[in-house]
Amino acid sequence: MRPLLVLTGVPTASTVRTFLTPLQTGTVMNLDPANLRFETRCVHVGVDKDDTFNSCITPIYPTSTFRWDGIGKTRGFDYTRSGNPTRTALEQNLAALEGGIDCRATATGMAAITAVLHLFQPGDQIIAGHDIYGGTYRLFADVFSKMGLRFSFVNMQDPGAVAAALCPQTKCIWIETPSNPLLNLVDIVAVVAQARTAGVLTIADNTFMSPYCQRPFELGVDVIVHSTTKYLNGHSDVVGGAVITRTPEYAERVGYIVNALGLACSPFDAWLVLRGVKTLGPRMEAHQRGAMALARMLHEHPQVQRVYYPGLPDHPQHALARRQMSGFGGMLSFDVRGGRAAAERVMTRAQLFSMAESLGGVESLMEHPDTMSHASMTESARRAAGISESTLRVSVGIEHPDDLAADLNQALASCRELS
Ligand SMILES: *Cc1c(COP(=O)(O)O)cnc(C)c1O
Repeated sequence: MRPLLVLTGVPTASTVRTFLTPLQTGTVMNLDPANLRFETRCVHVGVDKDDTFNSCITPIYPTSTFRWDGIGKTRGFDYTRSGNPTRTALEQNLAALEGGIDCRATATGMAAITAVLHLFQPGDQIIAGHDIYGGTYRLFADVFSKMGLRFSFVNMQDPGAVAAALCPQTKCIWIETPSNPLLNLVDIVAVVAQARTAGVLTIADNTFMSPYCQRPFELGVDVIVHSTTKYLNGHSDVVGGAVITRTPEYAERVGYIVNALGLACSPFDAWLVLRGVKTLGPRMEAHQRGAMALARMLHEHPQVQRVYYPGLPDHPQHALARRQMSGFGGMLSFDVRGGRAAAERVMTRAQLFSMAESLGGVESLMEHPDTMSHASMTESARRAAGISESTLRVSVGIEHPDDLAADLNQALASCRELS
């Protein structure tokens, strides 16, 4: 195991870092993260380990290279593309939050997805949902398919569709749940069972829920990816990603790929995400409190046709949400009456909701998937996925729910004559 942020540590040759064994720092924190509750891990794992000056916070090490003590003798780091103490602190933290043994923090969420796609060879087939994140769809359908990987995009809510897509070349089932923007769920346990029977890998993009609300490893998934840009960082001030693994085999391979391709994040960005992640638990509580309040309000609203939020009892997969998630998250969508004009008016009249893409920050955002986040899909693909011109997606921030509800109410009132 590689010692972390210990300037007097003994380096080892192993590239696989096992985070869920007691940390080797001794002096500052000698706790086993496996024994700590989630919120405590957020604050403490990967942090508090600078014993040069006993800083409470992980320093940023903006250095490209590290001095060697002698031939074959480093203090655990030699070059920042390959490893940096600030980044390793974040990786330790994120691995502990998902319950993995290793993590690689990348420059963006797309870089994390790029890394795991390099686990496969030309000719391999990957099954994914037809309603996955648009950037992931583009990367799969446009970039990696040109390099010989094959993709089947199916309705992952239907186990029959997954079974029908399985073939001898299938190497991976890609799980993204809930979907964006309509919050459809994939039954993780059911898909993992199908994958195990077929002997294929499962990779989950857990960005939408964060490990606070959903822990795919506990449901049998093999590899987890994140866009840390969203809830993990939570403050809309950095882009980043992560790949988390649970076996030495994949930890080693992903570490090799991230280094070989040069996908790792900068020490500055790692430091920002590490700062953000400490408040993940309380932020997620506030996000979902607000989302539930707004979902209930919108559900009763005469100018709203339909609300998509897994926390509502009439969400078609509410029972599944209760089974596989420990919270319903901070994302919701709704169809407003009055078509595109009404959707635009709601967005422009709302004061507390910035009209912007992205999600997961402390401030509320609202966007129009048909022309913004999902514009790279064809119109027919959007309609097939259930996205209409009156669909609005909301990333509910941590503002007081009463203020958010009042603001959304006045914005909806402004388009009464359009409905
Ligand atoms: C944002 C997002 C990504 C891409 O992450 P970037 O940090 O923007 O590269 C991937 N998956 C999901 C579910 C996302 O929301």
